[in-house]
Amino acid sequence: MSDEPIEERLAELDRRELEQAQFIADVSHELRTPLTVLRGSLEVALEEDRSAEEYREAIGNAILEVRHLTRISQNLLFLTRGESGRVTLSFANLDLGRFAAETVRDLAQAAADREMELEAAAPALPVYVFADSGRLQQVLHNLVENALQYSHPGGKIRVEVGAAPGEALLAVTDTGIGIPEEDVPYVFERFFRSKRSRRANPGGSGLGLSIVRWIVEAHKGKVTVQSVAGKGSTFTVRLPVV
Ligand code: ADP
Repeated sequence: MSDEPIEERLAELDRRELEQAQFIADVSHELRTPLTVLRGSLEVALEEDRSAEEYREAIGNAILEVRHLTRISQNLLFLTRGESGRVTLSFANLDLGRFAAETVRDLAQAAADREMELEAAAPALPVYVFADSGRLQQVLHNLVENALQYSHPGGKIRVEVGAAPGEALLAVTDTGIGIPEEDVPYVFERFFRSKRSRRANPGGSGLGLSIVRWIVEAHKGKVTVQSVAGKGSTFTVRLPVV
């Protein structure tokens, strides 16, 4: 039995119930747009006889929306499983500099496709962390994919590994659109997307950074952001060193 007074326990239950209701409302809201677009494009395709080309285009658009819905549901499943303690991490020693260089290599083509420069930098001595490499890769992928998404062609992304007393740093800096000051406190919240990025990236779901934060905190680390609207952003992950 908890030692908390009954009033406090009831207040906590009320708070959780409110949070859950808000969560369900947010999920329904996020699913409504792709479902409406999907229904609309299929209905228009069926309205009259169309050419094979037009049917192909309608099916292509429908597939894009289905992919978007699939991504939302996979991300939500990961987050809810994580928050209820059902995601297990497999920790091992990992050289962060090597890891960053490998991940940057995996993403080189995506950067080239968007005409962006992507580079990794690390100190001469290895920086070791105790981490789940698959999950950490998810963190770096999400951060670099955002940097690509919210930048203009010709921009630059730098993935930098560093060491500070007792901690290892992994920072992703871009020269992109930046985040308006008033939005900065909310970017790690589930479903948060700034107005401008809704236009720049209609396929986003506002869950990528919540996943980043969950994974980093599961490693007893911290993630923060510094950004100047119109100039660019730096996301910094701090992990305890081995
Ligand atoms: P998504 O990218 O799917 O919208 P995220 O959770 O990854 O969701 O990001 C939340 C929001 O934070 C984005 O919609 C965008 O407004 C902002 N954001 C994230 N990364 C960047 C970045 N590198 N530059 C500018 N804005 C960003």
